[in-house]
Amino acid sequence: MAKTIKTLLSEERMPTHWYNVIPDLPSPPPPPLHPATMEPVGPDALTPLFPMGLILQEVSGESYIDIPEPVQDVYRLWRPTPLMRARRLEKALGTPARIYYKYEGASPVGSHKPNTAVPQVFFNAEEGVRKLTTETGAGQWGAALAFACSAFAVECEVWQVRASYDQKPYRRLMMEVFGAEVHPSPSNVTETGQKYLEQDPDNPGSLGIAISEAIEVAAGDANTHYSLGSVLNHVLLHQTVIGQEALEQMAVLGEEPDLIVGCTGGGSNFAGLSMPFLREKMAGRMSPEIRCVEPSACPSFTKGVYTYDFGDAAGFTPLLKMRTLGHSFVPDPIHSGGLRYHGMSPLLSHIYELGLITAEAKLQSECFEAGILFARCEGIVPAPEPTHAIAAAVAEARRCAETGEEKVILTAMCGHGLLDLSAFDSYLSGELSDYGFPEEKVQAALEGLPGAG
Ligand SMILES: *Cc1c(COP(=O)(O)O)cnc(C)c1O
Repeated sequence: MAKTIKTLLSEERMPTHWYNVIPDLPSPPPPPLHPATMEPVGPDALTPLFPMGLILQEVSGESYIDIPEPVQDVYRLWRPTPLMRARRLEKALGTPARIYYKYEGASPVGSHKPNTAVPQVFFNAEEGVRKLTTETGAGQWGAALAFACSAFAVECEVWQVRASYDQKPYRRLMMEVFGAEVHPSPSNVTETGQKYLEQDPDNPGSLGIAISEAIEVAAGDANTHYSLGSVLNHVLLHQTVIGQEALEQMAVLGEEPDLIVGCTGGGSNFAGLSMPFLREKMAGRMSPEIRCVEPSACPSFTKGVYTYDFGDAAGFTPLLKMRTLGHSFVPDPIHSGGLRYHGMSPLLSHIYELGLITAEAKLQSECFEAGILFARCEGIVPAPEPTHAIAAAVAEARRCAETGEEKVILTAMCGHGLLDLSAFDSYLSGELSDYGFPEEKVQAALEGLPGAG
């Protein structure tokens, strides 16, 4: 039995390629469609917003894509990340299961998001783009993009949902430390923002509005592009550094996972960890169950439908075939801001349809309970999002305690929660509400699907 508690690869062992799972799948995912013509969207349609380097990755049929040396150079600030065994958690649960977690909280901004922010900025800078715009909710993605922009001397302008901007100043300050300009959204610097502010000067904002503001500015300036932190193929691709490292670290320990669990918002950290293992599974070299965990309040896998829908609230994007709750669906205010997206990565949705991965939904009280147990045993406060994966790992380890099964569980610990402590405050003071499946709201949103009625 493996004794090691922590495995660090030396920096020479950092991956030099990203892994693209698409050519290894039994069939490719359906293409994005133009909403007016219902024809597949060609790469050229994306050039006002994205650089060709990323567009080619979005549609690539290559299994391995080189990580450019300047990107590797920034990755080396924190990669490879540690793989840890949660021995004290195992002991507290009295389980014969062995629980491992891959810790992405070790990055400069405390989450997995810089794994894609850095190459996104690099490929834009290479094409001469001088500024990137984006939206952010709680600020994880904005902070990652601001950090990456500072590494390649690209300007960064972020629209942060007004409610978060006002209530959670610390990630905004982190973005400003890295040199970004941050606006509360809706803002008066865009036409979209002005329109919303005229209707209601106290509008608390939403991700949908913030996306529209960031896209408006990028589309109106030839030197400015837009950047997205999840959902798209190239984002999932960049995150596969996580799983490639974990695969090698597990091999060093002589371990093979029986269960891989990760939380899914748009699917990027989960896909990043699990796709290299899925490659091994499809090749018959291992047989882990690979399971997504999502909030009951926003259950796109377990209660959504697999159909073409818009990626944003306003309907600016191409139609994406994905598991969706409807683009007008606004989830209840759970603390895991990163898991409040109405849809799911089209690639992961396709892989789910193929029956290669499973999914379950959890209430946030169970997640926070598991997150606090994890913090007390392992000394790391998890971000609210990965507490979903931790809760699933804990439930499985408890089952193993009853059956005596020695399962090996691998979980994605995609971020720390040191800037999310107010969420733990509401749990500890007994003020946390659970939000179950909002059946009527979802039904109404599904009636607004592009093909419906
Ligand atoms: C953004 C974020 C998520 C959700 O995004 P995915 O693309 O599903 O990974 C989850 N956890 C953390 C810590 C995040 O910052």
